[in-house]
Amino acid sequence: MAETKATCPYCGVGCGVIIQHDGARVIEVRGDPAHPANFGRLCTKGSTLHFTARPESRLLYPSLRKARDLPRSRVSWDDALDAAAERFASVIKESGPDAVGFYLSGQLLTEDYYVFNKLVKGLIGTNNVDTNSRLCMSSAVAAYKQTLGADAPPCAYEDFDHTDCLLIAGANPAFAHPIAFRRIEAARAARPGMKMIVVDPRRTDTAASADLHLAILPGTDIWLFNAMLHVLIAEGRVNAPWIEAHTEGFDALREHLRAITPEVAAKVCGVPAEDILTAARWWGEAAAPLSLWCMGLNQSHHGTHNGTALIALSLALGKIGQPGCGPFSLTGQPNAMGGREVGGLSNLLSAHRDLANPEHRAEVAALWGVPSVPEKPGLSAIEMFEAVRAGKIRALWIACTNPAHSMPSQALIREAMEQCEFVVVQEAWGNTETAKYADLLLPARTWAEKEGTVTNTERRITHVNPAITAPGETRADWVIARDFALRLGHRLGHASTARLFDYPSAESVFQEHVESTRGRDLDITGLSYAVLDEHGPQQWPFPEGAQTGRVRLYADGKFASANGKARFVIPAEALTAESVDEAFPLRLTTGRLRDQWHGMSRTGKAARLYSHTDEASIDLHPVDLQRAGIDDGELIRVSSRRGSVILRARSAAEIRSGHAFVAMHWGRNLLSSSGANELTLNALDPFSKQPELKHAAIRIEKVELP
Ligand code: SF4
Repeated sequence: MAETKATCPYCGVGCGVIIQHDGARVIEVRGDPAHPANFGRLCTKGSTLHFTARPESRLLYPSLRKARDLPRSRVSWDDALDAAAERFASVIKESGPDAVGFYLSGQLLTEDYYVFNKLVKGLIGTNNVDTNSRLCMSSAVAAYKQTLGADAPPCAYEDFDHTDCLLIAGANPAFAHPIAFRRIEAARAARPGMKMIVVDPRRTDTAASADLHLAILPGTDIWLFNAMLHVLIAEGRVNAPWIEAHTEGFDALREHLRAITPEVAAKVCGVPAEDILTAARWWGEAAAPLSLWCMGLNQSHHGTHNGTALIALSLALGKIGQPGCGPFSLTGQPNAMGGREVGGLSNLLSAHRDLANPEHRAEVAALWGVPSVPEKPGLSAIEMFEAVRAGKIRALWIACTNPAHSMPSQALIREAMEQCEFVVVQEAWGNTETAKYADLLLPARTWAEKEGTVTNTERRITHVNPAITAPGETRADWVIARDFALRLGHRLGHASTARLFDYPSAESVFQEHVESTRGRDLDITGLSYAVLDEHGPQQWPFPEGAQTGRVRLYADGKFASANGKARFVIPAEALTAESVDEAFPLRLTTGRLRDQWHGMSRTGKAARLYSHTDEASIDLHPVDLQRAGIDDGELIRVSSRRGSVILRARSAAEIRSGHAFVAMHWGRNLLSSSGANELTLNALDPFSKQPELKHAAIRIEKVELP
């Protein structure tokens, strides 16, 4: 039996795994004791990875549909890529480059992302390339950029070991980032004085173990953080000299917060004013206050300002860049960060450059050797599918993601894909909801079969290696993008295509990405596959000559903005995008289960992972069930203004009366849909364009089953 090192392909903790295999099959997995993210530990999902690496339901060869009403039939790779290039070239020639779109995934490796980004922005000449990270982390990105000047989480996992006040907002790491949470638990056990505050409308497993749980109403986070800052200012706990030296915008924010007392915020948030006061005092008294946030803040139509308001709590104390201090966003997907590093969003360019900046566009054009990078902003995820639905995007390429499950307002997404002229789906699995819309279905390699790099929540890059021979005719995602680019470039008459995509290996792609980071905030010119293999996973920045990556950022009080100062932002005190009313009187929140991952295309294959929760359900308070005349365990119809689903009702005391919770993992099947995103809405944050997946107004009713 051989052993190969890789990372877990699920959450952004990015645990190291050792794959035990015979070259053809994965036999077993165990945690990598040398990996700094997990030191050998794995959660239930990671430790069952070997059950998911099975050929059943894998896509093994390309298949093409010659006409919409015909089934797909098997074709060779040459025929598949020629057909794709032909259709994309003809759309581009007829309607221009903005008539095509590419929708990628935080599951892709950095090298995959890099080649796709160059294909779309460098070769085709559109910025219509976005990713499911838009649904996940884009509000945190915008919040970091507005306050600290760059998309760079300043903290590290070891800060859990140093903090004496941990404020977890809109995150349930006990379920969604379990190994990070075990480290938090260990830190609390070692230091009994450490306080943990959890902000979450539900009494999650994380909230249940908190010293203080603030069960605020959905969408009221900004009011809570503002009231906490009000207290810090009123009680003289802010670090005025540090604020004066290293920030701007504080005076205006202080004026703005004058009226936002704990009493005012308590009425909006639905929690006692004393609890807000307690949270503010614990935070203000802490030697090392650390905040941690994830989807609960990000997936909001004011997700960016949720983040900036939370970050302001660290800036007000000048507690950032020191051990145990600072604002720390948890990354949802395994390589959402790597995707952003290569500019894999419609508003970004390589190495954290901004599309809106003409110098940055010129730098990237020079790096790639193309005349220019288009100036016009590309469409973000939701906008892209709306453009497909409107007929403005005529050819769509979807790689390694399942929008017919994961996007809000599912009816609109289905409508878009049904009417799109040509849909390419590049996937490892043939049974996703999205695969059935494919005119061309391309078989991709996946975990344990690919080489490349991933970056986890704490900016740590790991080189992952293929362990087993990939099944059937599957190809690596970057190889598929490269080979399509070569064919498309030829049809579009770009003479330099062969030079642009002269990548003999994943390593050659990584080397080009590394060079693009020279002098940037995420400079990794000191890294190579060889360095990562010899010295293990490394945090960025890691410039040429460095011996190790940087654990924390901004320790010197110099931020990444143009003038080196951090910025206090006055947030818009918006609430939820949709209100409850007589017709839709309940507030739905969505989230994750402990043992499932996203749309279950992988975790759904491990029988053991159903022992925690074996079917889709809706959690409701016993009082609401009684009021509706519904029994615990009964199947009910759940409806929003966009659609309805059938779910089993579960009496749950951990949820407030008037609220409901549905996990996001289940989707449609032959009989019905239990997908939460039939109900959610596509209200977008104005800065991040992230949709409000976390809240919708719903009603429940009994159903008569045949
Ligand atoms: Fe995988 Fe996340 Fe679990 Fe680690 S914590 S094993 S990365 S799912």
